[in-house]
Amino acid sequence: MKGRAANDPPIAYESTRGRTPPTALHQAILAGLAPDGGLYLPGTLPRFDAWRDLDATTTLDAVACALLQPFFLGDPLATHLRAACAAAYAEDAPLVPHADGRTFELELFHGPTAAFKDYGARFLAANLRALRDDEEAPGSSTVLVATSGDTGAAVGSAFEHAPGTRTIILHPDGLVSPRQAHQLGSFGGAVSSWRVQGTFDDCQRMVKEAFADTELRVSHALTSANSISLARLLPQMGYYAAAALRHAGAGGAPLSFAVPTGNLGNAVACVVAKLVGMPIGKVLFAGNANRAVLDWLMQDDASPRATIATLANAMDVGAPSNLERLRVLVASHPTLRADLEACSVDDEAIRATIVRGWRELGRVWCPHTACAAHAVLERRARGDQRPWAIVATAHPAKFETIVEPLIDRAVPVPPRLAAMLARPSRSRPMAPHLAALRAALEAD
Ligand SMILES: *Cc1c(COP(=O)(O)O)cnc(C)c1O
Repeated sequence: MKGRAANDPPIAYESTRGRTPPTALHQAILAGLAPDGGLYLPGTLPRFDAWRDLDATTTLDAVACALLQPFFLGDPLATHLRAACAAAYAEDAPLVPHADGRTFELELFHGPTAAFKDYGARFLAANLRALRDDEEAPGSSTVLVATSGDTGAAVGSAFEHAPGTRTIILHPDGLVSPRQAHQLGSFGGAVSSWRVQGTFDDCQRMVKEAFADTELRVSHALTSANSISLARLLPQMGYYAAAALRHAGAGGAPLSFAVPTGNLGNAVACVVAKLVGMPIGKVLFAGNANRAVLDWLMQDDASPRATIATLANAMDVGAPSNLERLRVLVASHPTLRADLEACSVDDEAIRATIVRGWRELGRVWCPHTACAAHAVLERRARGDQRPWAIVATAHPAKFETIVEPLIDRAVPVPPRLAAMLARPSRSRPMAPHLAALRAALEAD
């Protein structure tokens, strides 16, 4: 590995707010949120040159493992990295070309819950299990997760059989798709599912308040599985790296990515993959009608907004937590901003894009993927010739009540999703306050 050698000091992980001492990777993962309320980022980014030795045939888990190695060097988790990658990247993320040869779809929905969050959730579960086995973490803990629809299912699936771990999932009542809601309540083991009478931002705030309450955090050994966790952010670089390499193998301009964006975890991982040296062109933040990133990129306005409910519900975030990471990365890499683009896609455009994808290209997109597809098709119409990958974040069968009437046909359900939907499902109501969450933590 050029750039970092085995005897280099380990990377220290720093809070975006800079009021906490830097810490080791495993401690940052165990903490979730930094003590000063910030999010952890690597204090220095390794320069990853080893990709020149990899090629388009290297498997996704091998690319990810090579890419992540410098981030893990010297940490107790390093010895478990290969196994964590094998677990997290059990399914490939295919890069499917369109007929024009310049547009691709990066399909991230082949995991057990049919959304990209399976990659990060399984990587996190593998690392937490390793820390527990090595006695770096307590023998029993509570994973607390707020979900706008897909995170909760991925985390429930990844932690369902984790020893000594109970998992509590909060989702906004009535604001997820019927199949998402079913999935969220379908887990056995020590997984419990709660419908909060509020929005995703309420769920996220309740989780943050629980972590900020030292007594609660310590007595229940709370662990975060939200996209503030480094163990979800870092592995999401893997599929961008593998796709960029597969594309680079053919020569030509580097691949740009249009990423459906809500809390910004997935798109920020793409930005970090670019910063460590992967052959990535532009990173486009494709949002829905919640405009936080767009407003920040266009007007330097990062103030939180009330959440707007849209067809792309997993992206209904008014105050994206990873904006804090993005701002730090942009401030410390002066040339980065020129390679970032953003757009906001309303429900009408989402519907029109789903119809167009099916009629003109024979592709079926979920409403989130449609935001990215809209951005790329719009650029093509303006004569943009760059190679673009539309990042397909969920399988359209999870959103069949939206997609099927638009394309006027049934969307086949992937077998693993069908199996999950055949299980019984149960979730309980919860008021949108920390007191209600505290009661749930203490009751079970
Ligand atoms: C979570 C999710 C997103 C948004 O990802 P972020 O990392 O929160 O930006 C987009 N699409 C789907 C299908 C999702 O589940």
